[in-house]
Amino acid sequence: MTDTALITAGAERRGLIGLDPAALQAALIDAGVAAKAAPMRMRQIWNWAYVHGARDFAAMTNLAKDFRAAMDARFDLARPEVVTEQISEDGTRKWLLRTGPGIEFETVYIPEADRGTLCVSSQVGCTLNCRFCHTGTQKLVRNLTPGEIIGQLLVARDALNDWPSTGENRRITNVVMMGMGEPLYNFDNVKAALAIVADGDGLALSKRRITLSTAGVVPMIPRAGAEIGSALAVSLHAVRDEIRDVIVPINKKYPIAELLQACRDYPGLSNARRITFEYVMLKDVNDSLADARELVRIIRGIPAKINLIPFNPWPGAPYECSDWAQIEKFAEIVNRAGYASPVRTPRGRDIMAACGQLKSESVKKRASERMAEMHSRELSRMPG
Ligand code: SAH
Repeated sequence: MTDTALITAGAERRGLIGLDPAALQAALIDAGVAAKAAPMRMRQIWNWAYVHGARDFAAMTNLAKDFRAAMDARFDLARPEVVTEQISEDGTRKWLLRTGPGIEFETVYIPEADRGTLCVSSQVGCTLNCRFCHTGTQKLVRNLTPGEIIGQLLVARDALNDWPSTGENRRITNVVMMGMGEPLYNFDNVKAALAIVADGDGLALSKRRITLSTAGVVPMIPRAGAEIGSALAVSLHAVRDEIRDVIVPINKKYPIAELLQACRDYPGLSNARRITFEYVMLKDVNDSLADARELVRIIRGIPAKINLIPFNPWPGAPYECSDWAQIEKFAEIVNRAGYASPVRTPRGRDIMAACGQLKSESVKKRASERMAEMHSRELSRMPG
């Protein structure tokens, strides 16, 4: 009974998080705000929501009390529900969030000496099936909405006490679209969300500090550059089509040569704005020194840095991480050719928060929970 009551009450209020300015203004006018006053009210609510992280209208002290009450009756600024928060021994934090039955996704905060990065999901599950990626073993449930994408940042800033977003010494200084899912298969929602992230009167992170990572959805790369304008990372992972076809199967649709051409043409590319090529180090698969030399040959002329990612294992994964000595030799060849080749330190492995480890563990647990629930329902239906 209470469940139904809650759902009904919730459904009456419309969530405002994730609406663009025009949609927010239209919502206010719908609710009876005079058209003349609407732009001003919209900016005020926007500023409270995204600069100050207000979670309810009562906090908006420069708005009249009865106006706040009227807003509160119709709208909310709700975040995704936090199902679990885990903190790694290295300080990495992972949140499992939920916005509806079976709509669960993860966000990871990675603190470093000179920055704090939030790794944000764009989809629940994924369609790509990259062979070394845990998320890839999970079917796509659905795209996340702009509100759900933004909501990840709001939850993290709430938990880290990281408001106002325009203040000095923020804990979250960078956002990477490197969580679950393929952001370029959810282009419109990712674009809408990142516009709010990059808005100076919004979540206020400069576009230089926002990186979108793609497995190589080639036709969408020019649009990402023109319409989103963030930094670009590309999950390259192999230098020959025979291998990339197997480990990043989208390569069969958009092979390496086409992918690299899209990188060469990426709008705004320069030495100050380089593409990051991600390269997961898989023992005896893509980590030979010949592969390293071929890598620097095929990317010649592209302002780039190469991010070598030690493979993060997961239960049943068909690969092993390359030996450290091999990773170092590989990095040195790339580096001597003139490319920065940082090795990404694995973070949060103990809580399954490292690259490619997201979500699946909680899915498994939940699947078994669902089974248990189903069985108990079946049992309770059996005639006694
Ligand atoms: N779909 C996008 C966004 C995911 S970003 C993309 O593919 O770029 C996550 C990064 O982690 C990608 O570069 C991905 O290839 C890499 N990755 C996936 N599984 C991994 C694993 N087990 N170990 C290390 N890196 C992994």
